[in-house]
Formats: sequence, structure tokens, C-alpha cells
Amino acid sequence: MKSRDTLKHAGKRKQLVDVLIDKGIKDEYVLTAIRKIPRHLFMDSGFGDHAYQDKAFPIGADQTISQPYTVAFQSELLEVERGDKVLEIGTGSGYQTAVLCELGCKVYSIERQQELFKKTKLFLPKLGYRPKHLSFGDGYKGLEEFAPYKGIIVTAGAPYVPKPLLAQLEIGGRLVIPVGNDPQVMTLFIRKSETKFEKHEFGEFRFVPLLEDKN
Ligand code: SAH
Repeated sequence: MKSRDTLKHAGKRKQLVDVLIDKGIKDEYVLTAIRKIPRHLFMDSGFGDHAYQDKAFPIGADQTISQPYTVAFQSELLEVERGDKVLEIGTGSGYQTAVLCELGCKVYSIERQQELFKKTKLFLPKLGYRPKHLSFGDGYKGLEEFAPYKGIIVTAGAPYVPKPLLAQLEIGGRLVIPVGNDPQVMTLFIRKSETKFEKHEFGEFRFVPLLEDKN
């Protein structure tokens, strides 16, 4: 059985937020979301006491829940506001999805691992998180059906920037994507016009790979 959320957990979350502030995270809304979300419930109960370390952990299917600093850094770069439509590639445990929900976004998210997709779809509503749409499929294609998006966040390492993701951004929209093969460079694209994109790079991070389907 999953453990509950207790005052002890809340205390550990506060310490985690202090660590993130020390590492340079400034966005109050992002910090508030992390202070609130019971990260330990997104992981196997066996990790219970470690859930609030600033580390990635396994979540099954060879995947990991991203390090809190990485989640905070990417969320901050997205610069979203309440009501913005956001697409996430790589639902995984649903932790980043929950952060986006806390930020007031209309969240769309794609996961290619059936096992994680099913588990997270059932789990998020139990914590009161209701993303607009969770999709089982290939994130390289984005989610054309609901485009354009104000923000797109990729939570796996992409060997290159998938064209559909740029195409599905609205003008003024932001794509946050780690690009490269181990490590990746955190990259932000801002869509300036139909054809122009501004590119900014933010140093190295380590992600599990964004996998490409063979068919
Ligand atoms: N946001 C997640 C991070 C999980 S790790 C969290 O906070 O837990 C990255 C996730 O991307 C994994 O769940 C992996 O299965 C998924 N993934 C990898 N390649 C993908 C693809 N092509 N399309 C969609 N999801 C993909």
C-alpha cells in the first residue's frame, strides 16, 4: 500500500525547496507547486524516505522520475501562466504533469510505455490532478489534434529536435527540450513568427532517451 502524506513529508518538501532555491530556482509558483506535491506517492513505496532528495529515481519500465531541480528548471523556463495550454512529452510518473496542473495549465501529455501510461492515468485523479488529456503514443509526433500549444516540455533526451513540436507551438510559444545524447543540452525555442524561432541553451542535463518507434 502507498504511504500517506504526513507532516514529516511536508517538512522534507520544505527542505527540498530550500535546496532548489540554493541552486538558483526563483519562480515562486514553481516552488509552491513543489512544496505542495507529495512526490513520494509518485514513486514505489520502497523509496519513501528518499523521495525528497534532489535525485532521479526508477519508476519501472526502465524509466525515471526526473530530478526535482530538473523539473523546476524546465518548468521555470516554460514561463507559463494559468490557463495556458501545455503539451508534455513523457508523462512517466506524472510528477511533472502534476506540477503543470498546479501552475494552472491545461495539460496534455504523451507517454509511449503502456505500463506507465495506464498506471499514471489512474493515479493522477486520485491526487486530484485532472490533465485535459493523457495520450498513449509517440511524442516525436506531438499531439496535432489539440495544437497549437503555449508551451511544450520534453522530459526525455531528444537526439534531435522533432519538427512537429516546433510546428505545434503557437506564435510566442516556448519549447523546452533537452537535446543530444547523454548528456543533453537544455534548449529553449521561442516561436517569433510562422517561420522564425529564437534558440537559447542552458547547460548540460542527463535524461533517459526519447525513444523513436521503429515502425
Ligand atoms: N515527466 C516524467 C519523466 C519520466 S522519464 C516524470 O516526471 O516522471 C521520460 C519519459 O519519457 C519516460 O516515461 C519514457 O517512457 C517517455 N518516453 C520516451 N520516449 C518517448 C516518446 N517517443 N514518446 C512519449 N514518451 C516517451
